[in-house]
Amino acid sequence: MDDQSLFGALSPTLRAGATAQLARERASRLAVLGWLALPMMLLVLRIDLSRLHSGAFEEMRTFPFFVASHVAIMLGAAPAIWLAVRRRDNPAYTNLFLQNTHVALILGGLLVGALLAMGPELGPVVDGRGRVQFTLALIIANLIYQLSARVRYGFNFATMVLSIAVLAGQADSPAAAVSERIIETFVITLILALAGGSMQWQRLRSIIIEQRLEELTLTDGLTGVASRLRVEQELTEAIGRAPSHAPVSLILLDVDRFKSINDNYGHNVGDEVLRLLARLLQDRGRRSDLVGRWGGEEFVIVCEGTKLDEAVTLANLLRLRIAAHPFPSVGQCTASFGVAESVWGDTVLKLVDRADQALYAAKREGRNRVVEARTPRPSRTGDPYADGNISLTA
Ligand code: GH3
Ligand code: MG
Ligand code: MG
Repeated sequence: MDDQSLFGALSPTLRAGATAQLARERASRLAVLGWLALPMMLLVLRIDLSRLHSGAFEEMRTFPFFVASHVAIMLGAAPAIWLAVRRRDNPAYTNLFLQNTHVALILGGLLVGALLAMGPELGPVVDGRGRVQFTLALIIANLIYQLSARVRYGFNFATMVLSIAVLAGQADSPAAAVSERIIETFVITLILALAGGSMQWQRLRSIIIEQRLEELTLTDGLTGVASRLRVEQELTEAIGRAPSHAPVSLILLDVDRFKSINDNYGHNVGDEVLRLLARLLQDRGRRSDLVGRWGGEEFVIVCEGTKLDEAVTLANLLRLRIAAHPFPSVGQCTASFGVAESVWGDTVLKLVDRADQALYAAKREGRNRVVEARTPRPSRTGDPYADGNISLTA
């Protein structure tokens, strides 16, 4: 799912906010990648230069290989950043894949540089153990990126302590080299921990935002039941499944004379009636049914795998429960119901239209009643209206 289809259901204001947030996250992800590459490059360069200075590289001939290893690291960072820009639409991709690609490329650069430096006639001028240790620290840190923050920091800390313990045990190493590599390990694990933590934090933020957006679009703000969008989505899916299962029945209900409740008691009392009504429908209905607000004072119940007569029985039960419920300030409140059953080849529009016609028949006939829409015979073309056989029965 790309950004636009996720944001499609949002209002223009919310969409603008979400797009801006996404742009900020992209920028900071790139910054994190750069943050990971640059200090590492500088760190390795500094260590290699100090080794060169202290005579660790006996021959100046090996120095170009180290220059080559730094160039490789830089080149390693370039495709990762290029990919991040190209695939910027997919946060999961940039966060996990690029992070791995980048670290893998850094590792590759380091290893190639180290191998090249160990020329056959020169012998191992580089301390192989230091490189291996560096490589292991990177691999472990990279693997634990995928885990929770607590585990990640735990691993980083353990890696650091272990490295120090191993280095301290190298009796033959000069003290200066040991302390240098302790600092090296410490700085690397710190950078990885910070970069990993920052990546994880960014991902967490975007997950929270995604969830919040989903909640906003799929839930009705006033009553907490399903939004019209969610009802439409689930009804489309249920109708699609219906031919191979039992039919879908739709109950549409509208509060009777709701305008007079608003006029007599004010909108706040009206809102409270809607909230209580939604709760009644959810508490008194069946668990498998989806209750939603269709708009204003109209509610809808999607009953999957339910025949018309069962849905009518349920609608009557709910109608009686609503009529018997003592609504604060208002006292009694009733609702009218229209019920329709899906047929082969139905669409949301057609099914809702049949329930709507039945609902209006219930209003015409005096309100506080349930009217069922007669189910059209499925035609050979799959169009239930093709035979012109829509009619209503009370
Ligand atoms: P009927 O029995 O024919 O349905 O009459 P009615 O008064 O319920 O129908 P009408 O469509 O004339 O009035 C619906 C009213 O619902 C008008 C509108 O102000 C009110 N309404 C719509 N949405 C809300 C809401 O979220 N809160 C409140 N308090 N009122 C709402
Ligand atoms: Mg209405
Ligand atoms: Mg009404």
